[in-house]
Amino acid sequence: MYDAIVIGAGVSGLLSALVLSKNGKKVLILEKEKVGGICQSYKLNGYTIDNGPHIITRLENGPLRKLIEEYFDISPEFIYHGEYYVRDGDKVYSFPWNLKSFSTFSLLPKKDRAVLLHALISMYGRRLLGEDFSGVSVHGLLKNRNLSEKTMSFVDTLCYFMTGVDSKKASVARFLDSLDYKSKSKGVISVYGIDPQAYLSKIIKLLTKKGAEDQGYPKGGIRTIINCIVQSLNAEIKTGEEVKEILTENNTAIGVKTQKREYKGKMVIYSGYASELPNIVEVPEDYERELRKLEKVYTLTLWLGLNKKYFDKMGSEIWIDPKCWVVPVSNYDPDLAPEGKQLVGFGFVLPKEYNLEEEKKKALDGIKRIFPEIEEDIDFIHWQVLVPEKAAWCINQKMPGNLTPIKNLYLVGTDTTEKSMGITRASYSVLNLMEVIR
Ligand SMILES: Cc1cc2nc3c(=O)[nH]c(=O)nc-3n(C[C@H](O)[C@H](O)[C@H](O)COP(=O)(O)OP(=O)(O)OC[C@H]3O[C@@H](n4cnc5c(N)ncnc54)[C@H](O)[C@@H]3O)c2cc1C
Repeated sequence: MYDAIVIGAGVSGLLSALVLSKNGKKVLILEKEKVGGICQSYKLNGYTIDNGPHIITRLENGPLRKLIEEYFDISPEFIYHGEYYVRDGDKVYSFPWNLKSFSTFSLLPKKDRAVLLHALISMYGRRLLGEDFSGVSVHGLLKNRNLSEKTMSFVDTLCYFMTGVDSKKASVARFLDSLDYKSKSKGVISVYGIDPQAYLSKIIKLLTKKGAEDQGYPKGGIRTIINCIVQSLNAEIKTGEEVKEILTENNTAIGVKTQKREYKGKMVIYSGYASELPNIVEVPEDYERELRKLEKVYTLTLWLGLNKKYFDKMGSEIWIDPKCWVVPVSNYDPDLAPEGKQLVGFGFVLPKEYNLEEEKKKALDGIKRIFPEIEEDIDFIHWQVLVPEKAAWCINQKMPGNLTPIKNLYLVGTDTTEKSMGITRASYSVLNLMEVIR
């Protein structure tokens, strides 16, 4: 009999097991494939490749930092991410983090900048008055404002980057979440439902934010985070065991069944795709319908090992055409590439239906449009198709939270909470889970 059985040994499952085991619980983790889930790094031709380029956000006092400080025996080392740049052809702009830099962000026409600013500030006001933006798309908010094609393309790029979907599907709430983080508003008495201190701190942040000062790359590759969790963890991990059924009695989870045997536990924590939960346990129809709506997005990552340094700045680039995110990871950790070479990850969002060979060609052609001579300097090419978030932050879909209609069965992972993205979101989901269990 275990106190908790965790299904899945990705970062969400491992962090849940870590917190529970540090609280004295006897924990079993069952993983059908590899410990680490998406978070893997591997060696190829002298390069260390991550499963997709990763930058960890909200490191200052965000959820992963909280978990590290409280529960890790060994901490990963993060190297400061540096600036974000926006590239349009051969022009590169610093990402405008505050109102002042936005007002001079010459990629967009002046009139559009004013319109976007107005939309942003009025959205805060409306939000503070209690308006719910979860059903409002970014496109819906901006569509009647006569914005140029270039501006809409920039907005779309940001939406892909921050939510995984285009502006028609991306929820405005995602952009508000970025500003809510770190808001020091707790405990302030509100006036007519408005928290004046929160409002002020958001406006000050808009005016003064210098950049992504609290983001970093994990030295040694993304897998180091997993290694640190595993080394801090006191739990049993069994790989090669797929949970085929969650066992219940009187609508209460009592254990699980794998292809090998049954295990009994006082609680079960599921960290696989929430949309696939109904495949292993019977849940009410309306709950199943909501889970099935969760939309995952596939990304294509191209890793290039380059004979010379094409990206010399510390930081990553957001490209408008082709739409992609470019992270020269060996700038953070030179050990990821053989001496004298540069390792760069290019991340593209894939459409719902796609032909892989065509998408690869489009990606490579797009890079060659920007750097016509790059082909001669390619030392190494590696492709990956992966799912970065188990659910994109779309309008008209609600992430289910940690509780399920079955007692003692909980969900955790990037498709349970609407907050941030990736490992930060996974960490939020674990902190939420602990609150719920408490
Ligand atoms: C291209 C790319 C770029 C990314 N960039 C970033 C970034 O910059 N910053 C960031 O923070 N994050 C980023 N991420 C996202 C981050 O890697 C993931 O959000 C995170 O690793 C997900 O962890 P998870 O534990 O929730 O899910 P997973 O890693 O998917 O883990 C779930 C585990 O459960 C197992 N499982 C499922 N069902 C069962 C079952 N029935 N029985 C047993 N085992 C089961 C699976 O095998 C898997 O190992 C990126 C991801 C990709 C792919």
